[in-house]
Amino acid sequence: MTTPKLRIPVREDLAGLEPYGAPQLDVPVRLNVNENPYAPSQAVIDDIASSVAQAAATLNRYPDRDFPALRASLSAYLKAESGVDIDPKNIWAANGSNEVMTQILQAFGGPGRTVVSFAPTYSMYHEYARDTNTRWVQGARRDDFSLDLDEVARTLDAESPAVLILASPNNPTGTALPVDAQRQILAMTRQSGPVIDGVKTATLVVIDEAYGEFRREGVPSALEMLGDHPHLVVSRTMSKAFGMAGLRLGYMAAARPIIDAIMLVRLPYHLSAVSQATALAALRHREELMAQVASLRVERDQLVDWLRAQGLQALDSDANFVLFGQFEDRDRIFRDLLDRGVLIRVVGPQGWLRVSVGTPEETQMFKNALKEII
Ligand SMILES: *Cc1c(COP(=O)(O)O)cnc(C)c1O
Repeated sequence: MTTPKLRIPVREDLAGLEPYGAPQLDVPVRLNVNENPYAPSQAVIDDIASSVAQAAATLNRYPDRDFPALRASLSAYLKAESGVDIDPKNIWAANGSNEVMTQILQAFGGPGRTVVSFAPTYSMYHEYARDTNTRWVQGARRDDFSLDLDEVARTLDAESPAVLILASPNNPTGTALPVDAQRQILAMTRQSGPVIDGVKTATLVVIDEAYGEFRREGVPSALEMLGDHPHLVVSRTMSKAFGMAGLRLGYMAAARPIIDAIMLVRLPYHLSAVSQATALAALRHREELMAQVASLRVERDQLVDWLRAQGLQALDSDANFVLFGQFEDRDRIFRDLLDRGVLIRVVGPQGWLRVSVGTPEETQMFKNALKEII
């Protein structure tokens, strides 16, 4: 094909950029994107297969736009997982929490609006902002990666953001935001948003609990605060603890006016009948999947202890990964591990590396390889 010389009008702010993504390499031990290392059991596979077969019989029709059955099932799951009662109408789902977040910024961000977060944190937030033409402001965390509430207050004051996104547990640090800090932030954001019709609005506070299920004993979920805070959104996903990264199912819980706003911008029929059927089938097996989380937590704590015993630093983690370091040349450590068949992630501040918690066998291979290197 000969291409005629012409220039396509790609947005100027996208020109020359590379698409985001961690390397997908086919190596024996993949500990780089915080997946659940356990494949679905045969019982889960069979249930998904028959549910999808049923859904296939009606694929000539558009799926249910509002997916009430799935929302009810997610509500029952959250009740079992966090002990919080959430009306299915206060739950919304999309193709991964990536899409949920994008929808939030489509409805609450956009030109002339600002979204704030505090680094180091999940690098995708910046992309949701860019894609929705929302101004991106990134404050800094303290040297120990905790959130400086004075800095948060200053940033809210200076920027009047429509949205504040905070991951808890945070990625890549694994650290959870203490409850009293969450409460203080929810108090300071009641009137820190943009002025609309002469009225100072709230800042929408999005707590990204993608790793919420891995939190340690005694660390509560932000879901508990939903009742008192009409400007709070708690985002969750089936990609991590639930072991369904390939399904692409993320969801959020929030007050009705927030859900209503999201419904204005969602594409009609965004959640396919196949996705809905698969998610419903997987959720029927929640007890089995939640049992894995308990063992992954134990593995995680042991991995932190082991890294420290090697004379390294490792952060306490409420997630299924550990940030460890510090290395003069972290790229060398990454490459030497890869040479031994172990893929981890170069992410976060200079000198640090992130490793996901795998099966006991995978973790052992990571330990063996790292011992050889350091
Ligand atoms: C992995 C991850 C997600 C999950 O994204 P999905 O689109 O649901 O797979 C969300 N937030 C953070 C911080 C993550 O690390």
